[in-house]
Amino acid sequence: MKHALSVTRDADFAAWYQSVIAEADLAEESGVRGCMVIRPWGYGIWERIQRLLDDRIKATGHENCYFPLFIPLSYFEKEAEHVEGFAKEMAVVTHHRLIPDGKGGLMPDPAAKLEEPLVVRPTSETVIGTAFARWVQSWRDLPVLINQWANVVRWEMRTRMFLRTSEFLWQEGHTAHATADEARDETRKMLEVYRSFAEDCLALPVVAGEKPENERFPGAVATYSIEAMMQDGKALQAGTSHFLGTNFAHAQNIRFQNASGELELANTTSWGVSTRMIGGVIMVHGDDDGLRVPPRIAPWQIVIVPMLRDQPEDEALIAYAKDIQSNLAGLSALGEPVRALLDLKPAKAATKRWGWVKKGAPIVIEIGGRDMAGGNVSVIRRDRLYREDGKLDSQVMARGDFEAEAPALLAAIQQALHDEARARMQAAIVPAGDFAAVEAHFAEGVKNPGWVEVQWARPTGAALDAVVERLKALKLTIRNAPSDAAVADGACVFTGEPAVERVLLARSY
Ligand code: AMP
Repeated sequence: MKHALSVTRDADFAAWYQSVIAEADLAEESGVRGCMVIRPWGYGIWERIQRLLDDRIKATGHENCYFPLFIPLSYFEKEAEHVEGFAKEMAVVTHHRLIPDGKGGLMPDPAAKLEEPLVVRPTSETVIGTAFARWVQSWRDLPVLINQWANVVRWEMRTRMFLRTSEFLWQEGHTAHATADEARDETRKMLEVYRSFAEDCLALPVVAGEKPENERFPGAVATYSIEAMMQDGKALQAGTSHFLGTNFAHAQNIRFQNASGELELANTTSWGVSTRMIGGVIMVHGDDDGLRVPPRIAPWQIVIVPMLRDQPEDEALIAYAKDIQSNLAGLSALGEPVRALLDLKPAKAATKRWGWVKKGAPIVIEIGGRDMAGGNVSVIRRDRLYREDGKLDSQVMARGDFEAEAPALLAAIQQALHDEARARMQAAIVPAGDFAAVEAHFAEGVKNPGWVEVQWARPTGAALDAVVERLKALKLTIRNAPSDAAVADGACVFTGEPAVERVLLARSY
């Protein structure tokens, strides 16, 4: 069967991923390594993600605010682990003026050297914590629950569009609480917001759980993540929620007077998801014809393509299509008004059809003269593009029937994408009883090995380092300890000691 992309997932997954990004007009290189131009279709998906997640962040009591892009270096130096974790990837501003260099170019003016270097924020705990210290005096000021939507910069060495970029867009939530229990509850609550958001809106099945000590956010007491499985079996950390204890409060002096008048340190949390999620959507829902966007996050859910021929009849066809568009726009699907686009661009109908297929619009309807004469439309569902005989599955429907069924159809596509991804993930997570079984499972040459679940004794320090090294030889990492896993009842596959929990092992992005 011939497909819309020139490279298939099976032939070369990495090249396929890049080709979806190009062919679906999602993003492109910018000239600065690791920084991408996000094109309207890609940014439209990000805007949908923002809107849906922002509603959930606000529904759980958080308010949005904005902090500066530049953070004084000294703010980082206060939290040793944090600065150590980020030092290798910080972009720093040292000058505020350029002067001629005498060779026809420009150079930083030595006279305009900043007294203190400014870091381009890689994350904002330090500056937001400094504000918390000002805002919080008494227990009455707690909790502080805020979020910001922003761009951040981490000078990543190995970059890949959306998945790992040097500049990325994200939201970062930051909260301060009177007690550790309350902050831990907040950490888990936001992990659950991410889990349900990924499942319900992105149709992305994920495993929520706690990260091992070696994968903790620099400065955190505990880090939790949601992990998604890509179609090549690799894991993608799609979001994280951190319990920071009093580490940052101590460094930034976030203290409050408790009800009995004593001074106490606050407990803080932070949590974030980024444009990486779009990379996850591509690698979970894409196929050999391009992207398939779940209806909830599709900038356009239904695209109407009239088959124009540069003839006088075009006018009637456009009027017919406009009427359908306006009826669709009056409907509600998945809790929101239907987003229907009438594509009147001057291009061949077939070119437009395949353009929207590659972009992954959930439904494309085509209208030719014959459709109009019969009061019909031809409907293409992006999640089921082909019939069993390999032909494009374009269904002729009475327009009234299509309009009546469109909301249910969009909901069905959202569900179908989720179910397909969940079934694939569930089938690809298998248990391993000992380390030999892990080695066999991830033996060289095994294509798409998926994930393995093992029991372990949760070693720490040097013992954990040894485990991490053993896994590294197999190119594996510990993803997380799933919150909903059965209790451990066996021996640790690494040490033979009694196990305390189950963890997932996988190759990852
Ligand atoms: P962190 O502050 O390190 O916990 O990061 C929060 C979330 O941002 C992570 O869970 C990732 O999903 C995402 N993220 C981290 N680094 C990058 C990057 N270089 N590019 C895109 N997304 C990232």
